[in-house]
Amino acid sequence: MTTSVYALTTSDWANAFEKKGFPLSGLNYWLDGLYKDNSIWSRHVASNTVESFHQDYDFGLPEISKILKSDDGTVKFQMQFKDQLEVETVLIPFHKRYSVCLSTQVGCAMNCSFCYTGTQGLKRHLTAGEIVGQYLKAYQWLIQNDEKALKPNIVFMGQGEPLHNVTEVQKAIDVFIDTKLVGLGRRQMTLSTVGYLPGMEQLKQFPKINLALSLHSPFDHERNQLIPLNMKYPLKDVMEVFDDIPHLKNDFMTFEYLMIQDFNMNDEHVDALAELISPRKAVINLIPFNPFPGSEWKRPTKEEIDTFKTKLVTKKLRVMVRTTKGDDILAACGQLKINQMARNYER
Ligand code: SF4
Repeated sequence: MTTSVYALTTSDWANAFEKKGFPLSGLNYWLDGLYKDNSIWSRHVASNTVESFHQDYDFGLPEISKILKSDDGTVKFQMQFKDQLEVETVLIPFHKRYSVCLSTQVGCAMNCSFCYTGTQGLKRHLTAGEIVGQYLKAYQWLIQNDEKALKPNIVFMGQGEPLHNVTEVQKAIDVFIDTKLVGLGRRQMTLSTVGYLPGMEQLKQFPKINLALSLHSPFDHERNQLIPLNMKYPLKDVMEVFDDIPHLKNDFMTFEYLMIQDFNMNDEHVDALAELISPRKAVINLIPFNPFPGSEWKRPTKEEIDTFKTKLVTKKLRVMVRTTKGDDILAACGQLKINQMARNYER
């Protein structure tokens, strides 16, 4: 596969210029042309530079094959890559800014029982260029529909376990934070993991972005039911590595907690969560389970959610309830899945 231009950082481009003997004075124009307006190239970049890079790299972005809009402003895109495989990318309105929920794999190998994507299995990892490409394509659409829209934040919470594809995700983050390319702040990105330990070890070398652990139960026997990976990497081991990530020592850790009716919202959960989380500087993000076709779990009532939250707050834990967005178009957490077979009939 030809390398995408969107997988390269400024220093990669500087090396490419040097290798080809192109003057570095043209580098900034080249990058502005790539990320802002490529008409700049015709005025400021030699035509042999443009031709040479077009021969070496892939300049394509994913195609949007389908768009669904929710009543609450959430927009779900099906993005199609060169090999015809597709992922879902979701734009979520949040106060005055959008967040883009990016996918990092086609499908997912983790098979979590609360997640529609997990029923699909892993088709393949996405490349850094495909991850950045989703962002650029969603941002282009946003600007066309709202020219004053700010650059969206990023959450790595779409299809796939980001740390199972950690090398490409890290390259994409390098492009996102590169001030001459996408130019996002580190705190504008949040990466969520179910606890894939080999990838978590590599997080120690990552740029300092926000991290979230999908906890969903303080008990291994319940986590095993929700996240089969927990049988291989139990919570105690995951917490040890999470605690050991240098920059998290001074930051808030985020724990995602999916609330499932009659399963993980009892008093014993409140007590065990207090014991696990109180010693840490942390926030618990409570997420009501989002049903999907064929799922075995149920969503709690508003009253059950409020009671659970109040009990956690009484234990002096910092708690937020995440408002569910886009569940009318199956764009909410855990609901993303593309039926590759049905794709052609849905356009
Ligand atoms: S919750 Fe995340 S890790 Fe688990 S199956 Fe779904 S996409 Fe994969």
